Amino acid sequence: MTSVYPQASYDLVVIGGGIQGAGVALIAKRAGYSVLLIEKNTWASATSSKSSKLIHGGLRYLQTGQFTLVYECLKERQWMLTSLPNLVKPSWFYLPIYHDSHYPSWKIHLGLFLYRLLSGNGAYSQYKIIPKTQWHTLSGIQQKGLKTVFAYQDAQTDDAELTRHVMSRAQKLGVDCYENMECMTATRGANYSYQLELMHSDQQKNHVVHCKTIVNATGPWVNQVLHKLDPDVHNLPIELVQGTHLVVSPQLSEKCFYLSAPQDNRAVFCLPWKGKTLVGTTEITYQGPPEDAHVTAQEKNYLSTVVKHYFPAYHFLIESSFCGLRVLPRSSKKAFFRSRETLISKNSTIISLYGGKLTAWRSTATKVVTQLDKIFGRHSTVDIDSLFDDNSTS
Ligand SMILES: Cc1cc2nc3c(=O)[nH]c(=O)nc-3n(C[C@H](O)[C@H](O)[C@H](O)COP(=O)(O)OP(=O)(O)OC[C@H]3O[C@@H](n4cnc5c(N)ncnc54)[C@H](O)[C@@H]3O)c2cc1C
Repeated sequence: MTSVYPQASYDLVVIGGGIQGAGVALIAKRAGYSVLLIEKNTWASATSSKSSKLIHGGLRYLQTGQFTLVYECLKERQWMLTSLPNLVKPSWFYLPIYHDSHYPSWKIHLGLFLYRLLSGNGAYSQYKIIPKTQWHTLSGIQQKGLKTVFAYQDAQTDDAELTRHVMSRAQKLGVDCYENMECMTATRGANYSYQLELMHSDQQKNHVVHCKTIVNATGPWVNQVLHKLDPDVHNLPIELVQGTHLVVSPQLSEKCFYLSAPQDNRAVFCLPWKGKTLVGTTEITYQGPPEDAHVTAQEKNYLSTVVKHYFPAYHFLIESSFCGLRVLPRSSKKAFFRSRETLISKNSTIISLYGGKLTAWRSTATKVVTQLDKIFGRHSTVDIDSLFDDNSTS
């Protein structure tokens, strides 16, 4: 049973109980480190429950030449489809092309071919063209001007459940995991080790722990947390980009649709989600404190317009909405053109994670453990393919 307070010292404290923090805690523990994982709210309460819930390579990242990211994510997708079949499920995604579509059919065809190639042409990596005679089965999709409909395979998950699953696996292997526990300050002592002051939401006074290294996996709070360190640590300039989803009912379809927004040609997904339909996402620069981000009326209108454009006979009700914040490198380029890879920044014994994909949590965590090994002068060998095998507990 976990005690009320963490113990006095650890090799590693992971701050942030989203998918990245949970993943690092799990793989670091498997590598033999003693680990404390803390989350100031509840597991997956931030970005890791606000994603599009896709386990994918990201077809659209091919356009921006992010081949390494797509390849890596497709490999991770394949592993999760095999290792976590109850949480990660394959789906067909339907992608309609119209006479006035921004992207011509040949470009999409080429993209799908590449996507299949990068996924190793294995199971769940097929694509096809839907014959015109079957267009009437596509949940009432607008047929005026419709030229081609592609379908390709990708995967969906429940992001929050996936995060909790990774966290419980870490806990089962011996990671000390605490929710409602916030890192207030971290002060560097001798040998570059740290003293952290932690505050549990139910307790009045801070609790002190010591550790050799810190992994800062706090998503949109990454630079705020670096400011809590004494001495202050250099941070990377970032921009937070808000992405909103609507949950609408009744459910449109069992099928997943990949649409191009008529307003600006951005990709918008319409996905089956717990008996309803998930529509998203938007992309707007956000400047306030991460906890204050909220869905705007313009975003609701933007996403509703996309749905009405493609499914004119679909009468839906917005049941709820949520938004998450992407952490992107600051740049004058549009959000779409910026890298979606996780940036791992190491500053002596502090490792900070910037951005990244839900899909790539295992490979990101593996890279972090390589950095930890450098700090500790070790060479860990972790069989990352068997993380969830029941007989593999060390
Ligand atoms: C709109 C949107 C859609 C996306 N869709 C997809 C998708 O379909 N597929 C995909 O692969 N990726 C997707 N992503 C990316 C993916 O969701 C994120 O990369 C991932 O969830 C980030 O996880 P994280 O652990 O880094 O951050 P978070 O989940 O935000 O976790 C950080 C945690 O740190 C905690 N924290 C902050 N400060 C402290 C402190 N001082 N002490 C303790 N805890 C603290 C926070 O409470 C929070 O829970 C999407 C992202 C967005 C924004």
